[in-house]
Amino acid sequence: MPEGDTVWRTARHLDEALTGLVLQRSDFRMPALATVDLAGAEVLGTVSRGKHLLTRFGPVPPGSDGSGPALTLHTHLKMEGSWHLYRPGSRWRRPAHEARVVLVTETWTAVGFALGTVELVETGTESDVLPPLGPDLLGPDWDADEAVRRLAASPDRPVGEALLDQRNLAGIGNLYKSELCFLLGVNPWTPVSQVDLPRLVRRAKAVLEANKERVEQTTTGDLRRGRRTWVYRRDGQPCRRCGTPIRVAMAEPGVTGIGVTGRARSDREDSVAERATYWCPTCQR
Ligand SMILES: [Zn+2]
Repeated sequence: MPEGDTVWRTARHLDEALTGLVLQRSDFRMPALATVDLAGAEVLGTVSRGKHLLTRFGPVPPGSDGSGPALTLHTHLKMEGSWHLYRPGSRWRRPAHEARVVLVTETWTAVGFALGTVELVETGTESDVLPPLGPDLLGPDWDADEAVRRLAASPDRPVGEALLDQRNLAGIGNLYKSELCFLLGVNPWTPVSQVDLPRLVRRAKAVLEANKERVEQTTTGDLRRGRRTWVYRRDGQPCRRCGTPIRVAMAEPGVTGIGVTGRARSDREDSVAERATYWCPTCQR
């Protein structure tokens, strides 16, 4: 599942490429939007809200003097989604059958693949389609005190679970959940009331800010493959601090164990990793 920094960077790329351009063609490859045609609409910009993307368009049809509705395309990458930008005529890097949205301009074609959410709404009502979100770690509304207050409101909740709840603070996925618990030295099942929440929130902000400009996500400061995380996807390998084998627990209750190492992971293992919690039983008591 993409973390908030990935979504933020996707929004920036779409914004920089498409803003101010006019759509020559649009193609929504899903039954509910199959007849929509945004040809002629100007792209006004793209922003991220937590892990959601909002791409805004001028009035459709064009030349309607603003009397036509201004529309917002709401998309979410969910587990496997991505937006790609292509020059006209260049080859797509994902299979065409995974494309859900194609936005064609003279200079760029934006293709949304395997998106989890695709909705088109009037811009004036776009906030209605977003779920309730806490302060956005990479948003203009970031408010650390409010994030701490929201986390603290459920004092008995396991901190790992509370970090993933986008109503507390928006932008953390499974990778940063496990890594932040390690960085704080807390077990992911520690009740929120026993965690230094201001410190946790500061680290969360710092980690996303540090990674938002690049493709590689690191919490160790090392960008080399296989060295970027303390615990995430390192089950069975020695802790980088103390040498204890890293443990993994699946989201399903009662399933815990030490994983197999030393071989390539399959897609199924990838999807398991998205629901797993990783920790060092020595450093995170
Ligand atoms: Zn350790």
